[in-house]
Amino acid sequence: MWIVPEAAIADLISAEASFEAVEAVFAAMARKDAYNFPVIREAIGHEDALYGFKGGFDRSGMALGLKAGGYWPHNLERRNLINHQSTVFLFDPDTGKMAAMVGGNLLTALRTAAASSVSIKHLAREDARVLGMVGAGHQSHFQLRAAVKQRRFEKVVGWNYHPDMLPKLAETAAELGLPFEAVSLPELGAQADVIITITSAFSPSLTHEHVRPGTHLACMGTDTKGKQEVDAALVAGATVFTDEIAQSISIGEAQHAIAEGLIAESAINQIGAVINGAHPGRTSADEITLFDGTGVGLQDLAVAQSVVDIAVRKGAAIQVDF
Ligand code: NAD
Repeated sequence: MWIVPEAAIADLISAEASFEAVEAVFAAMARKDAYNFPVIREAIGHEDALYGFKGGFDRSGMALGLKAGGYWPHNLERRNLINHQSTVFLFDPDTGKMAAMVGGNLLTALRTAAASSVSIKHLAREDARVLGMVGAGHQSHFQLRAAVKQRRFEKVVGWNYHPDMLPKLAETAAELGLPFEAVSLPELGAQADVIITITSAFSPSLTHEHVRPGTHLACMGTDTKGKQEVDAALVAGATVFTDEIAQSISIGEAQHAIAEGLIAESAINQIGAVINGAHPGRTSADEITLFDGTGVGLQDLAVAQSVVDIAVRKGAAIQVDF
C-alpha cells in the first residue's frame, strides 16, 4: 500500500487536479456510477471531539474507501494542531486490500473549494465580473482561489460576521491580482454576480432581498443540521443544485426551505446532471442559481486517489508491505 503524508500533499496536488477529480465524481454520482455510504458522526465524549466516517464507491473511477476524522475543538490551544483532523483510506475495489492512506486535511479544503468552483463553471453567467465572499475563515481563502479561475472576475467584495478577519482575505485577493472591498450585505448583493457563502453560522446572513436576479450562489458552509447561511426565501427563489440531494434536504442549506414547506425535494437538482448534459443548468440571464455544497465522501476519495497517482508518479509516495 501507499502512504502520502499530510505534509507532502501541498507540493503534489494542484487546484486544477482537485477540480477535475471533483467534477468527474459529481458526474459519476448523477449517472449512478458512484454512491456515498451513510455518514457516521459521533460525539465521542472525550476532548469534546466529533468523530466520524464518510465513505463511498465510485465504479467509474474505481475509488473505494472512506475519510475518517472530525473536529477536536481544543487542538489549537492545547497542542498547536489544527482542530479539523482527517485521513483518507483507499481500498482496492477488486480485492478489498488496503491501497493507500492519505492525509486528509488540506485535501478537504481543496475538494470543498473545487465543488463551488465546479458550480461556478456550470451555473454562473459567462459575463460574471464581481465575486462576493460571505465568510473569511480558513476555507474562504481556498474558495476564493478556486473561484477566480472560472470567470474573468475584476473585483472581490466581502462581508464577514467578524470584520477583523477580512483584511487577510483582502491579502489573498491581492495575491490573485484583484481589488477587494469590504462591504455591507446589501452592498455585496447589489454588486456581486457570484456569491460564495462559507461560514459556520446557525442563522441566515444573506437574504432574498439582498440578491440581484442572475446571481449564482455557492452556499458551502452548511454541512450540519441547524446551520444556515442564507434565508429560506432565497433558496426558494432560486433554482437549486446540490452535490447529494439526500444531504441537501437534511444537513445542507436547503434543509430550512424544505422544513418550512417552501420547496419540495423534487425541485433540487444534482450538479452532476448539469455536468453530464442531462439538466440544462441556468436557462436565463435573470435566473438565480444556488449550489448547496454539502460535502460528500466521494469528493474526498476522488482527490485522494488523484494525489496518490501524482505521488506515485513523482516518487513521493511511501510504499509499505501491508
Ligand atoms: P472557520 O472557523 O475558519 O471560519 C468560520 C467563519 O464563519 C468565519 O468567517 C466566521 O466569521 C464566520 N462566522 C462565525 N460565526 C458566525 C455567525 N454567527 N454568523 C455568520 N458568520 C459567522 O471555519 P472554516 O474552516 O472556514 O469553515 C467554514 C464552514 O464551512 C464551517 O461551517 C465548516 O463546517 C464548513 N465546511 C463545509 C464543507 C463542505 O464540504 N460543505 C467542508 C469543509 C468545511
